[in-house]
Amino acid sequence: MTEMLYADLALNLPTPNTYQYIIPSNLQPVARVGALALAPIQNRRVAGCIVGISGEKKCESLKELKRILSPDFAIEPELIELSRWMSRYYFCSLGEALACVSFLGFNDCRQRMEKWVRVKDLASLKRPDALDAFPTRQADVLRFFLQRNTDFEKLGILRGETGVSPSTIRALAKKGAIEIFQSTVERGDEYPHDVPATIPFELNEQQSAAFAAIHAAISESRYKTFLLNGVTGSGKTEIYLQSLDEVLRRGGQGIVLVPEIALTPQTVERFRGRFGDRIGVYHSQLTLGQKYDMWRGIVAGKIQCLVGARSAVFAPFPRLGLIVVDEEHETTYKQNDTPRYHARDVAVVRGMRTGAVVILGSATPALESWHNAHIGKFTLLTLPERIRQAPLPSVTLVDLGEELIKNKNAGIFSLRLMTAIEKRLEAGEQVILFLNRRGFANFILCPACHKSISCEHCSITMTYHKVGERLVCHYCGEQKAVPSVCPQCGHENLLRLGVGTQRLEEELAEKFPAARILRMDADSLGSRKSFLEKWRAITKGEVDILFGTQILAKGFDLAPVTLVGVISADHALFLPDFRSSERTFSILTQVAGRAGRGDKPGEVIIQTYLPRHYSIVDALAQDYAVFAKRELAIRRAIRFPPYFRLISVLFQGKKGGGVSEHINRFGNLLHIFGNQMRLTGVSILGPAPSPIEKLGDHYRYRLLLRSEGMGDMQRLLRAALEKYHSLKLKGACRIIIDVDPQDML
Ligand code: ADP
Ligand code: ZN
Repeated sequence: MTEMLYADLALNLPTPNTYQYIIPSNLQPVARVGALALAPIQNRRVAGCIVGISGEKKCESLKELKRILSPDFAIEPELIELSRWMSRYYFCSLGEALACVSFLGFNDCRQRMEKWVRVKDLASLKRPDALDAFPTRQADVLRFFLQRNTDFEKLGILRGETGVSPSTIRALAKKGAIEIFQSTVERGDEYPHDVPATIPFELNEQQSAAFAAIHAAISESRYKTFLLNGVTGSGKTEIYLQSLDEVLRRGGQGIVLVPEIALTPQTVERFRGRFGDRIGVYHSQLTLGQKYDMWRGIVAGKIQCLVGARSAVFAPFPRLGLIVVDEEHETTYKQNDTPRYHARDVAVVRGMRTGAVVILGSATPALESWHNAHIGKFTLLTLPERIRQAPLPSVTLVDLGEELIKNKNAGIFSLRLMTAIEKRLEAGEQVILFLNRRGFANFILCPACHKSISCEHCSITMTYHKVGERLVCHYCGEQKAVPSVCPQCGHENLLRLGVGTQRLEEELAEKFPAARILRMDADSLGSRKSFLEKWRAITKGEVDILFGTQILAKGFDLAPVTLVGVISADHALFLPDFRSSERTFSILTQVAGRAGRGDKPGEVIIQTYLPRHYSIVDALAQDYAVFAKRELAIRRAIRFPPYFRLISVLFQGKKGGGVSEHINRFGNLLHIFGNQMRLTGVSILGPAPSPIEKLGDHYRYRLLLRSEGMGDMQRLLRAALEKYHSLKLKGACRIIIDVDPQDML
């Protein structure tokens, strides 16, 4: 009798435990750690990952595993360990982390096989009269091969062309004239494979210095993270390419993360140009079958580098030598669902655990990364100049407050921008209009002194609520009435401002009826295909005015664009988010770089209510270091990242009163445990209504934990959560925990 074996299964459910099941003897050969399995729970069947196997029973009545999913597949031990870290750090269950880390999720998938037909002896069939020995239909089949002068063909094609029945095929096979065999189908990515080959550039002086440091770390196969700070066009990608080459040469493998794979077909092309089919492309819109084949390619050693979005950071390479995170400051690297991981941070942790070198590249690094470079966690490398010196566009600021007071113009377009657009349209040139819109909070602004009203406790802009004419701080909950005059300068006409792409679209259509206008933002982007269609229309010159949000700042290289207009540089500055200045700076720096990439000089017009705000002034000067210094001083003073760490705890539920009671209870628990455990370094901010107080039918309240380090804060939260769940209070709320939150709305 074989020994009884039991599997610990991590399920994709928010429960902290794993569940034990009996491995039936027929599954014993395929059930191994890392394999995916289907198991009964109550009256359902759910999928999970086997994370442990033992001969010891943990409880009396155990059920059996039903079957193994994707039998060839298993999650590697290194990635199971990484999932354990993720589950602890990001407060999700091990199963939730594994389902995210797994290339196939917890799905059932296998190779696709196709039937082929091979002629045994084509040469002998070429003799005259050879076909006479066969009945007509069988002869048709053989003639098919003769006419094409080929030995084999897919069964489907053969039958389609000749119209013969399965029995004809069987009869021929029985006679030994043909044989039927199976072959796997490669479900590859849709990016071009036959890219013209390129050779490495000779690096310039700055590139050489940066590459030498990376090269040294690679040759020692030692973990190290580099922050490569260089403006667009300074040669960062060339350094990624040469670093990868070095790693591949030594038998290692690499991962290259980009913020949004659909927007960067050029990046894929450049990597395939240098490394051919060793490059795989990974993104969320691949089918399960494509992912499966990608996984096989990796395991077989055919694919040695994966270029992809966020989740490519989990590529199962056994000898990972390099992880590149391009545009590391981009918010798309943070996942907005459980597990709420940040791909840049996971890249660093994975590099540390596997001894891989990590390169974070950006013209405007996240302040967290910049800070890490200055305290010695990362090594800073800079590329201060462009490779080819294209003339920089001329940049003008338009003060919208002055426009309002002097020109009595409260419209979306200043006179200056209007005339500039008209001029470009007449000349048949293309215009990009950019709306810096994040979220949809409203705020109050004084047009005379350019001040908004911020919270006395948090220094964060207060949000304007029409109902009750009140201002609310979404960090600490402080509320007050909208003042009748500006508290700073006494000006009487305070502006109530909000943003809308809708209104911009309507006004554009009205002001420029003859222009061909195209909107492009995350909401209207739709599928990859519709994106590529839009892209083609733009590059063919079928669009006069392109307008949209953040997407326009991401690496578009449109030569014919001569005018970039920024409709509102500063709306984001008033969002109740401590990263507003940073995001505004980085996005303006990038947008300004969009104009005049061709031969004609470009022009950038930035409309703003805050012409003297440092985010805008420093963006005009394209001076990251100056901006970072100012902003870091503020962050230190207001005790926010990178000097302090945050965990956001959001309670979401159906009835308003209930949700706030629950989160208040929870807040009390945090205070009690904080005192008991003597965690004086952890502050608890709130609870307060979230800036988006009501989402659908749900009310949202939030607490923030803040501390210089993560450890104490995570211990405190874990203790309070455990207690809270044990109380089993009525009126269930969903609790969303976000560690190192990026989105403060
Ligand atoms: P980034 O990634 O910083 O935007 P790239 O690596 O794309 O910069 O370089 C910008 C342009 O300069 C590209 O067209 C690239 O092929 C070219 N380039 C990069 N390095 C060199 C070099 N050492 N010599 C000549 N051209 C280079
Ligand atoms: Zn406040």
